[in-house]
Amino acid sequence: MSGEALFKCKDCSQIGPAKKKLHGAWYFLLPIWFVAVIFAVGFPLVGVPALVVMYLLMRKRHCKFCGSMNVSRHFTDDELQKAKQAKDELRKKIEKLNAKKDMESRIRDNLQRDLNFISDGAKKLKIKVAGGVGWEYLQNQSVDLKIMNSELRIYDWKRLEKKVIPFDQIRDVEIGGPGKVVNSPGISGGGFGAEGAMTGMALATVANLVLTSSSTRTIVRLLLDNAEVIFVSTDIEPDAMRTLLSSVFVHARNHSVTRADSISDQLAKLKGLYDSGALSDDQYRKAVDKIVS
Ligand SMILES: [Zn+2]
Repeated sequence: MSGEALFKCKDCSQIGPAKKKLHGAWYFLLPIWFVAVIFAVGFPLVGVPALVVMYLLMRKRHCKFCGSMNVSRHFTDDELQKAKQAKDELRKKIEKLNAKKDMESRIRDNLQRDLNFISDGAKKLKIKVAGGVGWEYLQNQSVDLKIMNSELRIYDWKRLEKKVIPFDQIRDVEIGGPGKVVNSPGISGGGFGAEGAMTGMALATVANLVLTSSSTRTIVRLLLDNAEVIFVSTDIEPDAMRTLLSSVFVHARNHSVTRADSISDQLAKLKGLYDSGALSDDQYRKAVDKIVS
């Protein structure tokens, strides 16, 4: 079978290709054509395309055998088969998409339930991830934060994931705002940037936030074992944030008491960052020099 479309003639019942040709009505419309041609000569930009469209509209399919225009499309088994296959494939694709959507909505519902279930004084708030080493993929994304008794939960609605930060992994907390900086319980000492400069990241991020975003009211920096994250809140002030995160602060303080904040500790932490790829050779060397000198 050739690729040419087949037509069945209702007058002679033959099946074959049917070419488009001008049909008899052409002659009745001769006066219109005459005007159209005159118009086309005078205003070719409008007239010529109009003429072409008229010509194309006037053409009809004619039976190859008897010349009748009473023809209809005739599909071969092959063509019907192909059409059926295409339809089946489309249906499968739609089913797959629906299944994916169902799954996503189930995961979303579960996350939402998990977020909404408040027990033992858990608190939640909306925040934006401003940046951080190891948190780049969440940068500029709005997430929900839930503060539990022993962990922080971050709900990533884009990836439909829940990220858990056990308090044990939190080494330091800092809360600040464009106007003021509240120091953490004595670990980093210098406020924003002292340790941030070590990771080569926090200082610039915080400076940018304060300078560029007038809606930023509170900045929270968490220093984790092998990562660092900076959150921003546009809803609440630093003092309110301090209250919300009090359990984290208490834990970090207890942690800092038991932690020997020695040079070797700092070096080990740096080594960890370096090994995880968060620091370049150059940043690592500079940071080590800073600690040792
Ligand atoms: Zn015919």
